[in-house]
Amino acid sequence: MIDKELRLQVEQECQKIGCCIHCSRRFTGDRVLDNYVAKSTDSAADEEPSAKKPKLDLCVFCFGVLSSSCVEYLSSKAVSSLEAASYDEPVFTTTLSMPVCTLVRDKSLYLHLKRSVPGYGEKVRFTHLLPLKDIWKQLINGRIASGAGKAADNGYFAELMVNVEMAYRGDRREVEVISKLRPGGRDLVTRTMADSALEASPEAKLLHCLTVPPGPPVAPPTYQLTCCRNAIFVAGRYNKYSRNMSQTPWHVDGARRTESSLQEVITDPLVSLTKASGVRFSASGREDVDVRTLGRGRPFVAELADPHVAQLSAEQLRQLQRTVNAVHPEVRVRDLQLVTREQTANLKEGEEDKTKSYTALVQSLSGPLAPERLAPLAAARDLVISQQTPVRVLHRRPMATRQKTVLWMRPEPVTDTLFKLHLQTQAGTYIKEFVHGDFGRTEPNVGTLLGGKFDILALDVESIELDWPPALDDEDGDTAEPCATVEPGAQA
Ligand SMILES: [Zn+2]
Repeated sequence: MIDKELRLQVEQECQKIGCCIHCSRRFTGDRVLDNYVAKSTDSAADEEPSAKKPKLDLCVFCFGVLSSSCVEYLSSKAVSSLEAASYDEPVFTTTLSMPVCTLVRDKSLYLHLKRSVPGYGEKVRFTHLLPLKDIWKQLINGRIASGAGKAADNGYFAELMVNVEMAYRGDRREVEVISKLRPGGRDLVTRTMADSALEASPEAKLLHCLTVPPGPPVAPPTYQLTCCRNAIFVAGRYNKYSRNMSQTPWHVDGARRTESSLQEVITDPLVSLTKASGVRFSASGREDVDVRTLGRGRPFVAELADPHVAQLSAEQLRQLQRTVNAVHPEVRVRDLQLVTREQTANLKEGEEDKTKSYTALVQSLSGPLAPERLAPLAAARDLVISQQTPVRVLHRRPMATRQKTVLWMRPEPVTDTLFKLHLQTQAGTYIKEFVHGDFGRTEPNVGTLLGGKFDILALDVESIELDWPPALDDEDGDTAEPCATVEPGAQA
């Protein structure tokens, strides 16, 4: 704490060289944020402590961002921007991005005070000065809060953010000095580079290189204000009953190959409800266009960017699930729920060590097959197979040979040349190749086990053994029958 006399001296010196009242107070080492607000509510006159001083809107340190006119301007801009976006998030925080040259000016002002006010350097440490952003938050947050009818979080971690980016024409020239302080530095000077260069340089060098005190700004700054809410994550499981639908939108040479993708069927209603600006869909693996996913379905997560509606109740999620299930007769979702970003890691975790169950429809190409000839399949347990990257995916996967385990198989004759093969395998096993052999690239395969040539006519994923997201106690999602509960009018 500095005494009153020294404080007055510092404030006078600051104002003489062009600091606003808030910055002047800051350089006295005052760390009580409330003192800054009390000061600003006095009157407009506090901008000009003495009549003969010029209007100090363009403060030599903060460029006027702390002035009451600027705080008023930016807060009303923030309020109208929040209102236009109508975020349902009740708490916001603000961020201010200042030009890098304010770091240089900060140091220069401090050195000037140290040189011209006796005793200043001993009483006020540079590292003890309040961050300018904290003062700005203190001045502006309350105004935005009352205007927008939301609560302000003075920290940095609210879900809803009002970001103000300040640009200053003279910035580039003023930060050139950083390259002088740390020779060999790159052309672009970041905040971190400037910070460490100013910190590391001896005072004599700084006094030699910096303009002390800094001159008036060459131009007023410009402000860009944006609002953004952190993404939310909606997880669930899906069934795909179609043999003609890809998981992601599928284009070949710019032309659409399938009518709608599973991803769009699921995410379009999510985007429209949450008014998100974008969506990213991930699932625990994927099936081919012609493969169905049955059973309890495949876990997925939709990341919704900048959602304006984010406070989803359990009832809204159930309604959303009904809406998604009404979009397409061959897609159903269940267990729709909000999860945290951290929880989404469950989706990819253990993707390789999980097991999956399938049913394949297999055709004998070597003539009729008596049911007892299928016995070798039923007898196999924990069969290790060796798979080279399949020919059909070579264009997008590197060439490799992988060992996979087929845990068990249960053949079920359909006709004398057709049988269903139920099987459980390690995740990542190429089932089609295990059936037809892929020109000997998968060994052993159904052909080598039974003797003969075989092909696969259809494949279903029966279940994915991933216990996430948690199943919800929810009658809507538990219908086992494909397409049985499509709501009236849903197929429009
Ligand atoms: Zn200022």
